[in-house]
Amino acid sequence: MSTITHTTTATQQKKVLGTYGPGSTHWVGDGFPVRNLFPSNGIQLEVSPFLMLDYAGPQYFKAAAQPRGVGEHPHRGFETVTIAYQGSVAHRDSAGNSGVIYPGDVQWMTAASGVLHEEMHEAEFTRSGGTFEMIQLWVNLPAANKMSKPGYQAITKEQIPVVPFATGGHARIIAGSLDGAGGPAKTFTPLNVWDVELKAGERVELDVPEGHNTAVVLRKGDATVNGAKLSGEARIATLGQEGGTMVFEATVDSALVLLSGEPINEPIANYGPFVMNTRQEILQAVEDFNSGRFGQL
Ligand code: MN
Repeated sequence: MSTITHTTTATQQKKVLGTYGPGSTHWVGDGFPVRNLFPSNGIQLEVSPFLMLDYAGPQYFKAAAQPRGVGEHPHRGFETVTIAYQGSVAHRDSAGNSGVIYPGDVQWMTAASGVLHEEMHEAEFTRSGGTFEMIQLWVNLPAANKMSKPGYQAITKEQIPVVPFATGGHARIIAGSLDGAGGPAKTFTPLNVWDVELKAGERVELDVPEGHNTAVVLRKGDATVNGAKLSGEARIATLGQEGGTMVFEATVDSALVLLSGEPINEPIANYGPFVMNTRQEILQAVEDFNSGRFGQL
């Protein structure tokens, strides 16, 4: 099969730094059974500006009377990105935003100076039960934007452009761009978030800008990226900043998420839901939260 090149300028292949499984498996509240694909497995600097990725499910939930999920909690200093694949999440926050993230939708929440929010299984999904599958990604903000006003982008499935591959697969461009298709998410630093599906036997070449840190997450399937094998579920490969080209080959139908971004080369001080640059800023966040300065749900 010939290789379809999705790029205008050929660059060298990115070097694979490593492949990993989840570092920890745990529940977030009682609604999100997650496999954490970083940083619990030791991956951190090589995926800047990305801070954390939890892969929830796929898991079947029985019908229930009360919504499961995670109740009121704060965030400061970064963005939370929720990609729903199966099942739906209802959200509301102290900035006055609320909504439902349905399958295929993405919520891009800029916590910045601080929000309180809750993330619950949506009411109808709770009543009917079903399979739940979601990703939550945390994206760092540069120091200059950590205390900016909170924001919220509710991105529906219909707003996300799909770039078809000649051999049957496709990429959904949530953020960044591919082949002239631009993702709807507005970001503070240059980055790409693409949902990639490959058919069995498919081989595609995808390019991101040189200098970007890059990670490829396998949701399910069996595929190689620049020769490194990802097989099964919940695996991740990290790739270096040099070069821009990635060659994907799938042996079975496979679902992947590509993350790339310009690194934010600033110190990180983090404590739970707060990610700042200094310990002093973390202490300030705790004090602001404890004294009610994050507002109210
Ligand atoms: Mn949250």
